[in-house]
Amino acid sequence: MNLHEYQGKELLASFGVKIQNGIVAETVEQAVEAYNKLKEDTGTEFCVVKAQIHAGGRGKGGGVKLAKNEEELKEHAGNILGMMLKTPQTPGGLEGPGKLVRKILVTEDCFVPTFDSCKEYYISIMMDRQKKQNVIIYSTEGGMNIEEVAEETPHLVHKEYIDPLLGLQGFQARKIAFNLNLSGKAFKEMTKFISNLYKAFLGLDASLFEINPCIKNGHDEIIAVDSKVTLDDNALMRHPNLVELRDTDEEDATEVEAGSYGLNYVNLDGNVGCMVNGAGLAMATMDIIKLSGGSPANFLDVGGTADAERVEKAFRIILRDKNVKAILINIFGGIVRCDRVANGVVEAYKNIGDIDVPIIVRLQGTNADIAKDIIDNSGLKVHSATLLKEAADKVKELIEG
Ligand code: GDP
Ligand code: MN
Repeated sequence: MNLHEYQGKELLASFGVKIQNGIVAETVEQAVEAYNKLKEDTGTEFCVVKAQIHAGGRGKGGGVKLAKNEEELKEHAGNILGMMLKTPQTPGGLEGPGKLVRKILVTEDCFVPTFDSCKEYYISIMMDRQKKQNVIIYSTEGGMNIEEVAEETPHLVHKEYIDPLLGLQGFQARKIAFNLNLSGKAFKEMTKFISNLYKAFLGLDASLFEINPCIKNGHDEIIAVDSKVTLDDNALMRHPNLVELRDTDEEDATEVEAGSYGLNYVNLDGNVGCMVNGAGLAMATMDIIKLSGGSPANFLDVGGTADAERVEKAFRIILRDKNVKAILINIFGGIVRCDRVANGVVEAYKNIGDIDVPIIVRLQGTNADIAKDIIDNSGLKVHSATLLKEAADKVKELIEG
């Protein structure tokens, strides 16, 4: 689950990570109110207006603007609220439709009044699956061009691996601060920042933190200016308060709908729809589709109970995708019997009516033979297959023919 910048920063602050003051607004009036409150609290005239969408690169797309007074703030808030913001990370990139901005964060400009002595750093934490350890990735070259830095000058990006049993050690936090060329108060601030950040990462069961930039201001304080926080969905049951932070407006509408039916669906850009039970089998099926010359239009795990109702919901969701040229149903009947699934497929097919893409059904497991008879005798445009290879060849034949 992804969080907005403002949500991520509030959570970080609760673990002692320094952030700048900021207030969320959904209208220009609220933005002006927020501006005046910040001015009163912090004494600064300058503020930053930041689009809150689940995508980075907002600065490059015009979603982060500095305002020097109330007039400018009004103008930026008016422009950014309701805009379709395109960034390199929104769907389709800069050529895509962009994402609707529903909220902005008005923050104090934490670079002033010491702008010249401010420095931006990059810090992220994630799990390195190969090493089976969390890793802190950091660089002195924080800011909007970190991707280019990583590409062109990879030696400026450092990694620190954390032993899961020992946790983050004091010397590691100091090493990071040292490698970031800090000394004195800033050095101490950075070690505290790193240690609190890592506590937050563990405490929230996060799978990704990216703080880019975090800055050292003129008072040698280290402050998180941006936050990208991804929480581990599988750990959300331990954090009922975090579940509430979910913003379904930011997620793929079809995926959200599928989720509400208990379907595990991820939209992809291929031409073969697939309906499978079990995530592992779904992955294997996608491989098979690739090998047969097609490409999967989606990942879809219908779960353990592939009954008629669920199969129908899954069908309808797959068919919404106009790129789909064929559908491969690959179900292993272990707990659920194949004949029940077959009946479900036939029933769903009849209910939906005008399905004009070919469907290949492979049912294996309990009562597979009965299931095959049901499919073959249904009189519908549904092809049955017993072996995976057969199913793959059939897919190939149907999408090429
Ligand atoms: P992103 O483009 O989506 O990663 O959004 P960021 O929050 O990282 O903001 C983009 C850039 O705006 C940062 O790299 C900073 O250079 C700049 N920026 C962000 N916050 C402030 C601020 O408080 N003051 C000033 N002067 N610049 C800021
Ligand atoms: Mn950023």
